[in-house]
Amino acid sequence: MGSIAFEELSKTYPSGFAALSDLSLDIADGELLVVVGPSGCGKSTLLRLIAGLDRPTAGSIRIGGTKVNALSPAERNVAMVFQDYALYPNMTVRGNLEFPLKMRRVGRAERRRRIEQVASMLELAPLLDRRPAQLSGGQRQRVAMGRALVRDPVAFLLDEPIANLDARLRTQVRAEIAELQRRTGTTMIYVTHDQVEAMTLGQRIAVLNRGRLQQAASPRELYAHPANTFVAGFIGSPPMNLLPVRIERSGDIILPSFGGVPLPGRMRTPKDAAIAGIRPEAVRLAEVSSEGIAVRVREVEYLGHETLLHFAHEAGAASLIARLPGLPPFARGDAVRLRMAPEDWYFFDRNGQALG
Ligand code: ATP
Repeated sequence: MGSIAFEELSKTYPSGFAALSDLSLDIADGELLVVVGPSGCGKSTLLRLIAGLDRPTAGSIRIGGTKVNALSPAERNVAMVFQDYALYPNMTVRGNLEFPLKMRRVGRAERRRRIEQVASMLELAPLLDRRPAQLSGGQRQRVAMGRALVRDPVAFLLDEPIANLDARLRTQVRAEIAELQRRTGTTMIYVTHDQVEAMTLGQRIAVLNRGRLQQAASPRELYAHPANTFVAGFIGSPPMNLLPVRIERSGDIILPSFGGVPLPGRMRTPKDAAIAGIRPEAVRLAEVSSEGIAVRVREVEYLGHETLLHFAHEAGAASLIARLPGLPPFARGDAVRLRMAPEDWYFFDRNGQALG
């Protein structure tokens, strides 16, 4: 019932700005899909189109197999939870939960039953007589979720639902939302700009950039096989190092921005590679002084359990980040040599598309 499908969905605002272009994607009934991308990539636009708050310029949206392009928000029965929760400040928690049911002319006994059910599920029972101003951020979030849930919608649309919470509460509420989604089995589209949040939550993640779908895959797949340089440079913290590259006839890898020393390539290093990528955790220190490329430490970030080292080549401005366990004793300016194993490189063509 709650499957959602987009077919070549596009939205161009009257200003001529294309906020979404040719988006095609199928979301299964009961799936939790995370949509992630930088600010302005079209995430909220997508949710507004699904909810019916805005109309697409082209393409179609199907909910439960039915094309909903021409249906009003009320006819779609999807529940949107906004970042600011949009609770009614003058109503109690009970009033907030009851309002969408009254709007739908649900009878009094049924209203009471549903509110009790949702209040118990979200542990809101002790808070039912309070007003939003008397609640913590996390509690308000739960009320906003509860208000969406009482309606028994076919899908939840969550727009940065925990962005306003502090770090500790974010982790907790995020886990609660995922648990709630599993328990209810209701299709959920969860929008965030935070790739770490996306990676921890998503069974499947759709990465958007400039209104275009870049890749939709599991967290593991996005990390291991990014479809292009955008995904490679967006997923992971810090993300993949991306460097201009030239491949020698021998297969050796030349990094012009790092002195042009040939690094050993692998069998079948793609000849038309224009960009090479390597994850910070795959950049290692060379044990032999004749090995690897010579760099200097530009910045040291101690994080406790690990350290991020920024390296630069003597001559160039290009830099490379390595992620090493523990607290290696480096200081800015230290000269070191880096070793990068042939099998750890990713290659992309001049358009940024991944090469096999
Ligand atoms: P954020 O994470 O910052 O909320 P977003 O990915 O949700 O960003 P959208 O709100 O979907 O982005 O906006 C996508 C693009 O469309 C943005 O560049 C925005 O400026 C533009 N946009 C949004 N609404 C309108 C509008 N009514 N008219 C013109 N352009 C708009």
